[in-house]
Amino acid sequence: MKIKIHDIEVNYQVHHRKVKYARLEIKNEELHLIVPPGVKNYQKLINKHEEWIYRKLSRISMLKTEAMGKKLDFSRSDETFRKLIQHQVNKISQDMGVEVNRVSFRKMKTRWGSCSSVGNITINRRLAYLPESLIEYVVHHELCHLKIRNHNREYWDLISLKYPDYEKYENELSIYWFLVKDIA
Ligand SMILES: [Zn+2]
Repeated sequence: MKIKIHDIEVNYQVHHRKVKYARLEIKNEELHLIVPPGVKNYQKLINKHEEWIYRKLSRISMLKTEAMGKKLDFSRSDETFRKLIQHQVNKISQDMGVEVNRVSFRKMKTRWGSCSSVGNITINRRLAYLPESLIEYVVHHELCHLKIRNHNREYWDLISLKYPDYEKYENELSIYWFLVKDIA
């Protein structure tokens, strides 16, 4: 199904599920409405969240456009990448005074890295195709989670100590996501 919000055409799907409240999700540039059984008035729900939907979809389309101007770097071997990450983990953990338990590598579908409460860092293998400055930023981002778990104000303040312009890095990572997400 399709609707128009301002100048963009929005594809949407409706999923009836046993949920208490309706919610909206955007996946692969499509709007998904998750609604309790019996709810029929989708238009009203869409209207209510029109600006949110528009903002989300405009951002995705902007990121995709910017992604077209970037190239991935396939020259790094798996071994070089692992060594680079290990080197950065050692350096940053020492600087920050945090302890990392284990570093592992995986192809991840939704993020560049993660950090468990016991200090295990997982790095998305696709990060290997990105510029070194962004790789280092991701390592730093994950190690900061050893101090503050959530993305709250305090967390971003901590990040700012080394990356006052962290928003630029986060934005770059979102742009690169569009380039790597379809790579096997
Ligand atoms: Zn994070």
